Amino acid sequence: MGSEKPLLQFVPVSSFVQPSFWNKLSELKINVDRLNDHEREICGFFSNIPSTWTTHILEVDSTSFNSSFNAQNNCVPFHGKIFNKNTIEQFKDCDKTELINKEGRRFLDDLKSGKILEKPSMLNFFFILSFSDLKKYHFYYWFAFPVPHNLQIILNEVSLISDRLSESQLSTLTEDYLQLNFYQKPYFLFHENKIHTLQSKLLEISEKNYGEYYFAFADYVNVGKHPKSQLCEESVDLNLKLMKWRLLPDIDLDKIKNVKCLLLGAGTLGCSVARNLIGWGVRNITFVDNATVSYSNPIRQHLFNYEDAVNNKLKAQAAADNLRKIFPAINSQSHQFTIPMPGHNVSENTTDLVKKTVEELKQLIQNHDMIFLLTDSRESRWLPTLLGIFFNKIIINVALGFDTYLIMRYGRQTGDGDQSVESDATGLHKIPGTELGCYFCNDVTAPGNSLKDRTLDQQCTVTRPGVSSVAGALAVELAVSITQHEEGINAPAFYKIGPQSNINFSEEQAGILGIIPHSIRGFLSNFTHVLPATPKYNQCIACSNIVLEEYRNKGFEFLLQSFNSSKHLENLTGLSLLFVDSNYVDVLEIGDEDWES
Ligand SMILES: [Zn+2]
Repeated sequence: MGSEKPLLQFVPVSSFVQPSFWNKLSELKINVDRLNDHEREICGFFSNIPSTWTTHILEVDSTSFNSSFNAQNNCVPFHGKIFNKNTIEQFKDCDKTELINKEGRRFLDDLKSGKILEKPSMLNFFFILSFSDLKKYHFYYWFAFPVPHNLQIILNEVSLISDRLSESQLSTLTEDYLQLNFYQKPYFLFHENKIHTLQSKLLEISEKNYGEYYFAFADYVNVGKHPKSQLCEESVDLNLKLMKWRLLPDIDLDKIKNVKCLLLGAGTLGCSVARNLIGWGVRNITFVDNATVSYSNPIRQHLFNYEDAVNNKLKAQAAADNLRKIFPAINSQSHQFTIPMPGHNVSENTTDLVKKTVEELKQLIQNHDMIFLLTDSRESRWLPTLLGIFFNKIIINVALGFDTYLIMRYGRQTGDGDQSVESDATGLHKIPGTELGCYFCNDVTAPGNSLKDRTLDQQCTVTRPGVSSVAGALAVELAVSITQHEEGINAPAFYKIGPQSNINFSEEQAGILGIIPHSIRGFLSNFTHVLPATPKYNQCIACSNIVLEEYRNKGFEFLLQSFNSSKHLENLTGLSLLFVDSNYVDVLEIGDEDWES
């Protein structure tokens, strides 16, 4: 028993029908076919996904009716037919065995006549028997995948392609393969270091020389140098694809995948935001932080472990490294520096260093699409707020209190200072996305050095452990919602004064994932959220046109003046020292070094 040679095995295929397939079929039935129920040629796409995923899916959508394939990455074409019956009785009474046999015989004829040699992808074959009840919009269907009966291929020897071919042979193979026509890609021949189509070589093969040929078929599972990580990447995408298939057919996953995220702060919030971003399939994440992992961190900061603390690793570096351990396909980078802040004096001999740091931050902001402000002090958010708005980036600010949190998106640089708030008949107010306020808009004083003159217990504000996870998750959901709104960063915010529970947003006020509030304030003490919105404050020390213009004209000189004295900002914008927003005190995470000093 044990010495018996294994057989080549085939995976069963499952079908998945995109709603757009039925839309197209209905359209064709009504406008073209009408009562004609002749067969129609269609095509499907087979995603050869790893065996850890128990089903292998053949997908059909509206493009299945096109006369030629839409080439898709990592998809194998399947040729098919649809027999769409006129009545439910015809659908039910159709002799399926007879249909399979008939199609099987035709398939055999195509094989014998050489027709399949021209398009080897025709070896992948399926058909659908269906009835569409267009009045009720009900679709009845049955998929069939006819395969040759009793076909047994014994595996004499199994070895890796890399054991048989040299590296240069492999690279030739890859290059040749990419040149192949879409129909030739699933099945081909490899002979004397070259790829050949079945049609061009098959007749030359005889019993004497067949050992010199490799009969090859595309198995997309093992594409790439790191098969396992490739599997992982495809599985991750499939999870998101299932969400698209089942719930959100209009969602644009590529927009999310390609967004470049800059996380300023790699502490509790940075870790939480990063984990939620990769959940959405985001591939590009850059961390900025200047702290190292301390023993107290791994408990609440989900990307770190005990070893990181023992080795005193830099947080940004450890976060980027550990993210790759979770998901190898991620492009995670790290930068180490402290963000210059207003009221934190820059001495003459550190001016060059601060200038360099500002330049580095500026480059990072320009090179990313989405900026998350997750640092542990209010004043460290000032410079990235200003720069992010200056470069019109999507900015998400997250701040924590003991049992409260604030997530806020910012407006952008508009130049016209038009701060109109419109209201509709239901009492719903609307602020254009461009005109939304920032974290500093409610301040009537510029941020100073919050660490000065404070004892340790005053410096460290403790939060309930769940606060950062909840806030980090909401921040990512808000950010992803923005990518799916047709107006993106310009998506308007709607709000209502008074009780929030009875707000009814119309469909056009929402994006694919729902409404996009300006801010979300959450309170764990009573587990509620409110969604306030505020327009830009024209004297804001971070986002007002006065400040943006000053930066445009004076650049680093203006920033340096602001670092050296926060009064500079107050004088510039005309703020007077009246009031400090005390709802969101600066949250500092306790590091061991604080206790030691
Ligand atoms: Zn502002």
